[in-house]
Amino acid sequence: MPRPISASIDPAALRHNLSVVRRHLDQTAAGSGGVAPSIWAVIKANAYGHGIEQAVAGFSDAQGLAMLDLNEAVRCREAGWGGPILLLEGFFESDDLDIVDRYHLTTTVHTREQLDMLAHARLSRRVDIMLKLNSGMNRLGFTADSFGPAYARAQQLQERGALGSIGKMTHFACADGPQGVSGQLAVFDAATQGLAGPVSVCNSAATLRYAEIAVGTADTTHWVRPGICLYGASPFADADAASFGLRPAMTLRSELLAVQDIAAGDAVGYGATFTATAPMRIGVVACGYADGYPRHAGTGTPVTVGGVATRLVGRVSMDMLMVDLDPVPGAAPGAPVVLWGEGGPSVDAVATHAGTIGYELLCAVAPRVRRQVV
Ligand SMILES: *Cc1c(COP(=O)(O)O)cnc(C)c1O
Repeated sequence: MPRPISASIDPAALRHNLSVVRRHLDQTAAGSGGVAPSIWAVIKANAYGHGIEQAVAGFSDAQGLAMLDLNEAVRCREAGWGGPILLLEGFFESDDLDIVDRYHLTTTVHTREQLDMLAHARLSRRVDIMLKLNSGMNRLGFTADSFGPAYARAQQLQERGALGSIGKMTHFACADGPQGVSGQLAVFDAATQGLAGPVSVCNSAATLRYAEIAVGTADTTHWVRPGICLYGASPFADADAASFGLRPAMTLRSELLAVQDIAAGDAVGYGATFTATAPMRIGVVACGYADGYPRHAGTGTPVTVGGVATRLVGRVSMDMLMVDLDPVPGAAPGAPVVLWGEGGPSVDAVATHAGTIGYELLCAVAPRVRRQVV
């Protein structure tokens, strides 16, 4: 019998969340009389911890898949995905172009070195690229000044038969916050003005809040790049996933291993950071930071035991954590526990208590936790 912890992955929730995004984009486009964007479903980092194969199944209605690990791209092809695949960081060395070619991948190009490698590559077919602009985040991309020359260079490679379509892409730093996207969008519009090709600018936050900027025209295809919202978590600190009609695709479950009856004045766990003020029952859950549960989630972090909402008490240990059983007087060893997901708190609520974001928790679920597809 393995430890009772597991992460259930629900491909129907992935499918549902994609349809929520699809509907939002279609309505926005219909409202402005434009063309609705295509969707690159972002499945980097093992599909945010959900598993590449589960994502390929759940996102079969997406127009494309996007990630940054070439092995994950190959796994998509092996899982039967025949549509476009975008490498968000492009290729890392010239040998990678064999894989780009063989598996028919679309690649981001964000450096001159990548253009040089494309110029020298022996390819069996044209490679579609998305040329990336650094519009202010200062992570990846050509500066506004060097974007035009990079585009011209890509066009030369296109004329020589090396490249297929040349798209234009950027990434927003503050789409989830009060600063919004207008400053970076103005930089993007100015730097790409008059340059033909597909456009891709929106992550989840921009897709949900600023879908109007992704509406295409008869001659320009837009692609949005949502990630986190497709897994049923929120990109926003001020709006939860449920408010958009999104459903959690991962549920982290475990069980009570033991119950302790403690007296007023008794402490719980390492460092004795929680002390009971009255007699109470404590449940010990088979889940710890070695499973990927955040150690910084302290007393008060929400958790559900036997279907009843309660809270963590004390410090999270490597393999266990403790919970307050006062709201669940009947709970005994074996009682079901939901750490986050369906029937429990949202991953975002747990993350907030740990000083982080749902993205990090989903990606950090440890390999030792069994993944179950439901
Ligand atoms: C991760 C990533 C996305 C998706 O971001 P979410 O916030 O998860 O929607 C989109 N584009 C790029 C370039 C990314 O790296």
